[in-house]
Amino acid sequence: MFEVNVSCRRIDAFVDLVGVQRVESVRQMAGHIRELVGTRAIWNINSTATGGGVAEMLRSLLRYARGLGVLARWLVMEGSPEFFRVTKRLHNALHDSPGDGSPLGPAETRIYEEVIRDNILALDALIQPGDIVVCHDPQTAGLIPHLVARNIPVVWRCHIGHDWHGVDVDKGWAFLRKYIEHVPLAIFSRASYAPDWLPRKRSIVLPPNIDPFSAKNQMLDEQTVRAILVHIGLVDGSGSHDDPVFVRDDGSLDRVDRKADLMCVGGAPSYETPLVVQVSRWDRMKDPLGVLRGFAELVKSGQACGAHLLLAGPNVRGIADDPEGPQVLDDVEHAWRALPDALRAMVHLAQLPMNDTDENAVMVNALQRHAAVVVQKSLREGFGLTVSEALWKRRAVVASAVGGIQDQIRDGIDGLLVCDPANPGELAALLARVLADPALARSLGNAGYERVREHFLSISALERWAELVATLLASMSETEMPVEERASA
Ligand code: UDP
Repeated sequence: MFEVNVSCRRIDAFVDLVGVQRVESVRQMAGHIRELVGTRAIWNINSTATGGGVAEMLRSLLRYARGLGVLARWLVMEGSPEFFRVTKRLHNALHDSPGDGSPLGPAETRIYEEVIRDNILALDALIQPGDIVVCHDPQTAGLIPHLVARNIPVVWRCHIGHDWHGVDVDKGWAFLRKYIEHVPLAIFSRASYAPDWLPRKRSIVLPPNIDPFSAKNQMLDEQTVRAILVHIGLVDGSGSHDDPVFVRDDGSLDRVDRKADLMCVGGAPSYETPLVVQVSRWDRMKDPLGVLRGFAELVKSGQACGAHLLLAGPNVRGIADDPEGPQVLDDVEHAWRALPDALRAMVHLAQLPMNDTDENAVMVNALQRHAAVVVQKSLREGFGLTVSEALWKRRAVVASAVGGIQDQIRDGIDGLLVCDPANPGELAALLARVLADPALARSLGNAGYERVREHFLSISALERWAELVATLLASMSETEMPVEERASA
């Protein structure tokens, strides 16, 4: 287990986005939390410091919490490749997918608990009585019984889930139940994700959020977008003399140094080429192959309006807790190689370097801002931060009507929803519609921006967290009874 250093950031800049009253009220709530928590820490534990939505969100939320004087800290648990294979299987199961089809039986429990035991040793040296712990996702669920037994207020936040509890969801919950059924508070991105056996009063809905001032979402002017994309090699280089500079999350100015790893024939697309873009981890549930098929249908229909497709994701060597990435990228590459030459020249696959989180984030930022259409054609999706990120950049978004995407996009207002994610023809038709109609694209993008401003910025999450911590501490002091009694209550 290791700690990730988190800097501080003040929330003042939110005044321009949500008004002075809301910002003031968050400050007051933070003052109340400081009184309740005193000098003790609020620890967050997950399983990766980079890549994916959880790391993205933690980095920004904790920074603001620290800026408000709350001692929020971040730990990353470590595990063997076998452990991450089991937790990826659990991740897939909670999305009602069989994943690699491997069992979730006693052998997997042994692998899982062995790593949990090692992490508990490290954790015990850090967590002090009175601290609060927030565990994220299935990887950390096994830590909960130990923390409950130590009388530590603990919250489990589950960022994944599926609206219908099919056989795989049941298998996932059967594996996890003994770790989480006595957690004082569990947080889900949608109400339908919570397992039936968890008492309603202990399960809370909290949608994820994005940080408008992070390297991922900060404003970039058009010249900078172009300079970054040219520098990293995702668009053709002629005609750009600007510097690929950006503001790091610690406030310092820096330039993009590294380059993306681009798979293409005939060179990167020109800056003028409209781009259909999906940026995601290389994960089957993000369905990059389905995007490829949908785009092929679009081109076949003759309605591509000259657009190219860019599928981008992290460099597959960069994410420790996602063992399926290399295989999925391999499959995508295979399918790309099998495309007819003319079509293959219109499709580009990019791996973005993960060595520097801010640099990676600003690459994603530039790509999302440059896209003519952002796609998120997930087969399953807990929330889908990439959707809010693109809406915040006023992009037209075409995304599957699954999971949390449905909370972000109202079909035809903030974006277009693909009702049947397994149907490439539907994706092709929606892409054709938005590519042919710039006024529609603009109006979707503008409405999307407003929706995110209202519901999905970090300031909303800070408001909810302040309430949750206060409720958790109040409920813990009410139930100052022996743990065994509380467990059976
Ligand atoms: N992301 C990134 N670099 C990449 C690909 C993705 O920073 O190369 C980010 C993306 O911008 C988003 C997060 O990873 O912030 C993915 O979150 P989401 O909720 O969309 O999906 P998850 O990966 O958590 O399933």
